[in-house]
Amino acid sequence: MPSSAPLKSAKSFRRNTQQRRHIRDVFERNDRPLAADEVLQLAQQKVAGLGIATVYRAIKALTGEGWLVSVEVPGEPPRYEVRGKVHHHHFHCLKCRRMFELEGCLEQLGKMIPPSFRVVDHVVLIYGLCSSCARVSKVPSTPGNRKAGKS
Ligand SMILES: [Zn+2]
Ligand SMILES: [Zn+2]
Repeated sequence: MPSSAPLKSAKSFRRNTQQRRHIRDVFERNDRPLAADEVLQLAQQKVAGLGIATVYRAIKALTGEGWLVSVEVPGEPPRYEVRGKVHHHHFHCLKCRRMFELEGCLEQLGKMIPPSFRVVDHVVLIYGLCSSCARVSKVPSTPGNRKAGKS
């Protein structure tokens, strides 16, 4: 007589696999590094009853498999992105805390390094305001900014 335990674990295994697939989808559809709470927010639209603990577990597993890599931001929870992307850097918005990808690299980077040094890797993280945050907090032009005496 079969017990119900294997059936139950098969069910929860299937649910985990499904949840993980949706979490992978979120990373593939959003082409920028995501923090765990962003993943939860984005995946919740598709997966009812998804919790932050499940998201953390999935991220941990996907990082362990080498599918995700973490992107560190000093003083912030790590972001994660799909591994194996072409060389790029990151822009961190100080207002909405979203992180974006920057294509390419800094050309003058090599010139900063003393000739006797050998570079192994580098990280470039730019801080600022993303386009939607910069638009909102745009400083209105003050009288001092206007061209004086040309009216
Ligand atoms: Zn922003
Ligand atoms: Zn670079």
